[in-house]
Amino acid sequence: MSTIDFRSDTVTRPSSGMRQAMADAPVGDDVYGDDPTVNQLEAKAADLLGHESGLFVTSGTQGNLLAILTHCQRGEEYIAGAKAHAYLEEGGGGAVLASVQPQPVENQADGTLDLDSVRAAIKPDDFHLAITRLFCLENTFFGTPLPMQYLADARNLATEHQLQFHLDGARVFNAAVRCGITPSAIGGMFDSVSACLSKGLGAPIGSVLTGSSDFIKRARRWRKMLGGGTRQVGILAAAGLYALEHNIERLSEDHENALLLADGLLEVEELDVQENVDRTNMVFVSMSESKLQGLAEFMGGRGILITADENPVRLVTHLDIDRAGIQTTVDAFKEYFRKAA
Ligand SMILES: *Cc1c(COP(=O)(O)O)cnc(C)c1O
Repeated sequence: MSTIDFRSDTVTRPSSGMRQAMADAPVGDDVYGDDPTVNQLEAKAADLLGHESGLFVTSGTQGNLLAILTHCQRGEEYIAGAKAHAYLEEGGGGAVLASVQPQPVENQADGTLDLDSVRAAIKPDDFHLAITRLFCLENTFFGTPLPMQYLADARNLATEHQLQFHLDGARVFNAAVRCGITPSAIGGMFDSVSACLSKGLGAPIGSVLTGSSDFIKRARRWRKMLGGGTRQVGILAAAGLYALEHNIERLSEDHENALLLADGLLEVEELDVQENVDRTNMVFVSMSESKLQGLAEFMGGRGILITADENPVRLVTHLDIDRAGIQTTVDAFKEYFRKAA
């Protein structure tokens, strides 16, 4: 039985076209700068995101950590959302490995950080205090693109206070496609972007970090120190390159499927479906604790994989889920909620 896996967009498997591109990739030793496929991927990613240079990294976590290591010195700090991946879900790497203190600021419902609160969090020049160096945003945030006007205002704040400005753009291509703009319109506002190739874009591994040539040169040194300098890695970069060439525009299908799923689930009275006019590829639903209990198991029996430990339940669409899979899932939810509680 083929499964319909809503747990994350990281679960996608490389398509046959992608596997072929990997098999055919010309390679060399990337630590020598000799891998043509890596070089092509890095140039393509930089171009797409409005920057001079790119760096192929193992994961989004490594991309964000490299950004902190490269932008900041020991004893400085970075501002990030209290719910941001780069603050909450990366093992405290900024603090542990970079000796850079995180300064969390509450996320608002739309994922933005109130700019007055950010301003208030920037430390004055006082030797009791860490030096605020970096301001990080995340886009999309829980499946919602940040408003472009907000990004422009945040950019101005960063410039005004001489902060470096980093985007955790794990799903920046979802944001761009949803907003109908080029990725560079978003990326170009930031000093650096970390973008995942292994989520909705469908590559089996990897992220790209982009920024100025000088920034990437310094990040490359940190990547080597972290053990991230790898050799004939064009085999993997080929998957990322294929993803950038074939799988960006089609993200709109995932967004349509998420909308279809949300609309279908709205018909289930006992489900509270989070409304989102800017939805990309995520649907969040809540239900009674008693219904939550048996949901994942019931769905699993129908080949539908979800994580339902707590409310809200996150359902993520991606290139391995088609329209028929959405319909199957909506039907399964309806069946589950028709059963006696
Ligand atoms: C997945 C994700 C990351 C990290 O990516 P990994 O490749 O899993 O390390 C960073 N930020 C956000 C918002 C993510 O969703």
